[in-house]
Amino acid sequence: MREVSKKSKRAVVLLSGGLDSSTLAYYVKSIGYDLYAITFDYGQRSRRELNSAEEIGRILGVKEHKFIKINLREIGGSALTDKMEVPKFSRLRMEHSQIPITYVPARNTIFLSISLAYAEVVGADAIFYGANCLDYSGYPDCRPEYIDAFREVARLGTKRGVEGSPIRIETPFLFYDKSQIVKKALELNVPIEKTWSCYEDGEEPCGKCESCLLRKKGIEEAKRSFR
Ligand SMILES: [Zn+2]
Repeated sequence: MREVSKKSKRAVVLLSGGLDSSTLAYYVKSIGYDLYAITFDYGQRSRRELNSAEEIGRILGVKEHKFIKINLREIGGSALTDKMEVPKFSRLRMEHSQIPITYVPARNTIFLSISLAYAEVVGADAIFYGANCLDYSGYPDCRPEYIDAFREVARLGTKRGVEGSPIRIETPFLFYDKSQIVKKALELNVPIEKTWSCYEDGEEPCGKCESCLLRKKGIEEAKRSFR
């Protein structure tokens, strides 16, 4: 008689190729999910992160890896997608505003919406998203109240939700700082050197943008706490 296969637990993971989302993917695998990775080629300056996403997905043995192209350059309005310079120091804010110019207008809503469609199609129970609100407090779409609002979208706007089993939106790193994410990465044996956090493109990370600086600070702090 053929063995009846147990239904697998499936999760969609937003995988950008950066340290946070790569660590998240390792974490989701470690708690027993089959991974359906989704990576967005949205016209970001950093093309290198797409290679990292692909490589991490391959190492992790994801069940499927979707690369979705949406050209947010046509909309612009961000230093990551438009002809603006990426700030070369930390915590640079636009004048009269608390929002950094590396904010990409409504990006996470766009990503989560497409991930929700994907999750519904592959029968995933949850979407895992590596937002954290501590280090990037300037981004409106990384805040806990935003995530809660999107849970409502998932509940009200999908067939699954209406039928009583809404797709969960999970953000386990929401209150982690960078050094806690690095510690998690070390614990899970994430190949940190294969991830790409820099906002710029190139052979090597620039070492000067906010994302590079945060990553460096996180790694240094994590190392110190191991001493
Ligand atoms: Zn950089």
